[in-house]
Amino acid sequence: MGAKYIFVIGGVLSGLGKGIITSSIGKIIQSYGYKVTAIKIDPYINIDAGTMRPTEHGEVWVTEDGGEFDQDLGNYERFLGINIPKKNNITTGQIYLSVIQRERSLGYNGRNAEVIPDVVNEIKDRIRAVEEDNDFVIVEVGGTTGDIQNLIFLHAIRELGKETPSINILVTYIPFLDTVGELKTKPTQHAAAQLREVGIMPDFIVPRCDRRLDQPRKDKISNLCFIERGNVIEDPTLDSIYAVPLLFKEQNFGEKILKKFGMEKKTEDLENWKNLVENIRNSDKKVKIGIIGKYVIYGDQEHKDVYISVHEALKHACAHLKLNLEIKQIQSTEIENRGTEMLKDYDGIVVPGGFGFEGTEGKIKAIKYCRENNIPFLGLCYGMQMAVIEYARNICGMEGANTTENDKNTKYPVIDIMPEQKEIVEKEKMGATMRLGACTAILKKDTKVRKIYGNEEISERHRHRYEVNPKYIEKLEDAGLIFSGKSPNGKLMEFIEIPNHKFFVGTQGHPEFKSRFENPSPLFKEFIKSCTI
Ligand code: GLN
Repeated sequence: MGAKYIFVIGGVLSGLGKGIITSSIGKIIQSYGYKVTAIKIDPYINIDAGTMRPTEHGEVWVTEDGGEFDQDLGNYERFLGINIPKKNNITTGQIYLSVIQRERSLGYNGRNAEVIPDVVNEIKDRIRAVEEDNDFVIVEVGGTTGDIQNLIFLHAIRELGKETPSINILVTYIPFLDTVGELKTKPTQHAAAQLREVGIMPDFIVPRCDRRLDQPRKDKISNLCFIERGNVIEDPTLDSIYAVPLLFKEQNFGEKILKKFGMEKKTEDLENWKNLVENIRNSDKKVKIGIIGKYVIYGDQEHKDVYISVHEALKHACAHLKLNLEIKQIQSTEIENRGTEMLKDYDGIVVPGGFGFEGTEGKIKAIKYCRENNIPFLGLCYGMQMAVIEYARNICGMEGANTTENDKNTKYPVIDIMPEQKEIVEKEKMGATMRLGACTAILKKDTKVRKIYGNEEISERHRHRYEVNPKYIEKLEDAGLIFSGKSPNGKLMEFIEIPNHKFFVGTQGHPEFKSRFENPSPLFKEFIKSCTI
C-alpha cells in the first residue's frame, strides 16, 4: 500500500514557522506508531541552497548524502530523529533541469514539452519517489499561496491528491490590531480563497498568532473558510519550538489527521519528548554561550537563522543536562574593534563555520582568549581552521600563518585548499562540489574526543574545500596540538584538541547537523558540561 500524503501550504506571510509545524505534525504521527518522512519544496530556480549567501538564505543544511539544502530539512531531522536524504528537497531548478534534459534526449517523443502536464508530472514523480516504506509523507510547499513561484507546485499537489489519500493543511497568520483590540481573520480568509482558486480545499487551518486564538475567531475561520469546526488548530508563539508537538497533541491534531484517513493510533510515545520540554522549562542553572560569527548582523538586524543548527544543538545538550541556556551571537568584527574584554562573562565560546576573510582576525583573537584563559571552546569547520592558525601563530611562532582562502601568499599556509578542489575552483564549478556529507573519522586512543564519542570510528557531516596542510602537522604536533581524529587514510585532519584545558576541541565536520532533540550531539553535550565546571 502506498503512503498517505499531508500537504502543508502557507498563506498570508512567509517565515511563519511552517517547517516547525510540518515537523511537529510529523512527530505526533510518528509517536502514534507510524513511519513518517517529510519533503521540502523550494520554489527558487537554484538547484540547491549551496550557492546562496548565508545573509540572504540563512544556514545551508547539509544532509548525510551531501545535499546542501534549506534549513527546514534540519527541523525535520531534529524533530523526527531520522536522516532525510537529498531527494527530499525539490526545487524549481531541479524540476526544469530534468524536463529540459528529457526533452533534449527525445524523452517526449517529438511532441512539445509543456508546463502542464510535463512539469506537473515531473513534480509528482519526484514527490512519489520518496514514498518507499513510509506510512506518511508530509510535503511542505515553500512560499505563500498567491506567489507566482509556487503556483505550479500547488497544481501538482492538487493532482497528486486525486491519486493518493491526502489532506491539505493551510498555515496562515492572524494579526492583532491594537486600534480595535481584535485578532483579524480576513487575511486567512483570503489565503483560503486563493487556495480554492487552484482547486485545493484546506482540511485544516493552522493560524499562527502571537497570542492564543479565542473560540469566536476559530468559529469565524471555520465558517468563512468552509472547514469543519474543530479543524482550526491554534499555534500561538511558544517559549520553545519543541513545545509545539505538545500543543498540537492537546488539541488532538494528530488523531484528527488520522481520522481523516480512517486510521487510528497504534501506540502513544511522546513521554520522553515531554520530559525534555519540562527540562527546558524547569532548568534554573544558567549557562551563557557566545557564538562568534561573520554573519550575525545584516543591515540593522540580527540574523537569527544563519547558525540555526548550532543554536539547536546547544539547546538539545542543555535540555538533556537540564541547564538554562543563554546564547548571544557576537559579530566577529566587533572583537577586532573592541578586543576580547566583551567575552569575559561567557561560560563557553563556539566559533562556527564560515567563508572568506572578513571577521577572521576577531575569531582568532577570541580563540586565543579561550586557549589562554581555560574557557571552553568548540570550533566547527572554519572554527577549527582558525584554531589551527591561532596555534601556529602564537605557539609555533609562525607569524602571519593563515589559510590560503584568505591569504594566497602567506609564508605559513597551515590551512590550504584540498588538491582535488583546486581545479574545481579554477573552473568555477562551485555548485555541490565541496567535500560534502557524511565522512568517517578515526579517533585517536586516549584523547578527549575518543572518550566523548566512545568509539574509534565515527562519522560527521562536512562542507568545506580547505584542510589542515599536511606539511605543518608535525610542527603543530611537536608544539602540543593533538590531532585526535583523522580520515581513514590518515590524510585529512578531522579533530584537534589541546590537553590540560577544560575543553578546547575543533572539528573539520559539522556535528551540529546530527544533533537531535531526543539524541544530542555528544560533542556539544560534553562542551556544555565543561562550561558548568
Ligand atoms: N571556508 C572553509 C572551507 O571551505 C570552511 C567552510 C565551513 O566552515 N563550512 O574549508
